[in-house]
Amino acid sequence: MIRNGKDIPDGTVIETQVCIVGSGPAGITAAWYLQKAGIKVTLIEGSRDFRDTNYIPEASWPDKELLYNGTADGLFATNERDFLIRPYAYNTSPSERERVFGGTSTHWGGQSRPLDPVTFEKRAYFPGWPINRQDLDPYYAKAAALCLLDPDFSAEHWAEVLDSDAPHLDGFDTEMYQFIGPNYKVFSTRPFEGPGGITIGESAADVILNASLLEMNHAQGVVDSLRVASMDDRSKKATEFTIKAGIVVLACGAVANAQQMLLSNVGNEYDQVGRYFIGHPIAQYGNTIVSIDGTYLTPSEKRFMDGDTLAGSRSGGAWVGKSGETVEGRFSPNAEQQRALGIGSCWFWAYNGQYYFELAPDPDSRVTLADTLDPVFGQRQTRITWKLSDRDEETYNQTTRLFTQAVAKRHATVTVASWDFLKSKLMVNGHHIGITRMSDDPKQGVVDKNLKVHSLHNLYVAGSSVFPTAGISNPTFTIITLSIRLAEHLIAALAA
Ligand SMILES: Cc1cc2nc3c(=O)[nH]c(=O)nc-3n(C[C@H](O)[C@H](O)[C@H](O)COP(=O)(O)OP(=O)(O)OC[C@H]3O[C@@H](n4cnc5c(N)ncnc54)[C@H](O)[C@@H]3O)c2cc1C
Repeated sequence: MIRNGKDIPDGTVIETQVCIVGSGPAGITAAWYLQKAGIKVTLIEGSRDFRDTNYIPEASWPDKELLYNGTADGLFATNERDFLIRPYAYNTSPSERERVFGGTSTHWGGQSRPLDPVTFEKRAYFPGWPINRQDLDPYYAKAAALCLLDPDFSAEHWAEVLDSDAPHLDGFDTEMYQFIGPNYKVFSTRPFEGPGGITIGESAADVILNASLLEMNHAQGVVDSLRVASMDDRSKKATEFTIKAGIVVLACGAVANAQQMLLSNVGNEYDQVGRYFIGHPIAQYGNTIVSIDGTYLTPSEKRFMDGDTLAGSRSGGAWVGKSGETVEGRFSPNAEQQRALGIGSCWFWAYNGQYYFELAPDPDSRVTLADTLDPVFGQRQTRITWKLSDRDEETYNQTTRLFTQAVAKRHATVTVASWDFLKSKLMVNGHHIGITRMSDDPKQGVVDKNLKVHSLHNLYVAGSSVFPTAGISNPTFTIITLSIRLAEHLIAALAA
């Protein structure tokens, strides 16, 4: 059932078992599993009801200006000043984050791969995760089934499927990425459990659109109620109501997760909320960072990297799976190189000029509250600061050196842009990671390995804000995986 917060009278108190805040992949996945287990779930989404525009995110952009605006600092100030609300510089679409039913899944790429095992390891400059890849493997398998993807991402498997050879470059892994099929990408409109399934709005979950979380009231380590408000058609506050939930899951997207915790002053006993903003920056479109002169892949290897097959459903074209999913290969430095050099990961496309890499966590890259207020609910806006460190420069220098050497062995030449040039062109690229990170130690992170805020008994956080490191795989497949794991944890906790 979907209802509009505007129709919920002032002062109403809604009681539920679990309240999930935010309807992106993180929130909807958790809501789906919980309601399926018979748990009473209320999913609130701040976006107004844009069903008549088919949830095209652009319809909600005026609201984004009102509710997501803030101050962008550090590298943002020069490279991506309007990061919080507007499309990328030099590119009219898409934008970094959305405030619409379905969240940023309304325009993401659907590119998916589990994080590599090395991402979870503690290494120089990169904190470990309190869980490892094996802990997540069973949930990755469930996420693959949910997203209608092949659970096997290995190069060997795909070389066979594509009737091709996976290329080997010295010091690199050849990694296969799958892209979710077009009908399954937008989480608000996707049918769950395959073709013919129902959407979250048709499930047993109580979905309330136009319901923005304003405050989490808490005392003695428990969130006892949520203050929630709706907007009217003139973009003013309409009604205010209360949700009382046994468990609250914050799934507002990384930046808003930190903002909400700071606004309610929860979980920040050790000044960890908002710190370690990381991601996978990329140079603004049109800037060549890595160029390759010469042929270094055989036709069969090229077919692998392009995800092409002669045996697939489109002869001679891209491989297209049963649900419309496609695949593409990338080169990433292997675990030995990352450990030995103390660098982050990265990927190289087979031919084109882009470079995509993992930032090292830096406490001074962070989200704080600005002194300005939003014009609808009067809440403090966000200030977001993005800095690059010497470690990031080292990742760039070492990985491009390795790639140049590996390709030279195959008799082609690589030319790379200077670090200063790359730095001047970087934009965040939609992957907002860190800022409420997972750690066993409350002095080093905000949530524990079950995603529960350390200092609160019933507040959990979902989304990439809980990742301690970014790895190189796109984050959403892991976000979905962690939300399935969180739902199973909550189902067990509620049963107990
Ligand atoms: C251009 C682009 C391309 C991308 N491509 C890929 C890709 O190919 N692969 C990949 O893995 N990832 C990709 N991503 C990233 C992906 O979109 C995000 O990782 C994912 O959407 C995050 O999911 P989420 O549920 O945590 O947050 P979101 O999807 O951002 O959803 C958060 C929701 O919370 C709501 N909300 C916020 N504040 C409040 C509040 N106070 N009260 C109530 N609700 C609130 C918002 O309205 C929103 O609906 C891409 C991102 C961009 C920008």
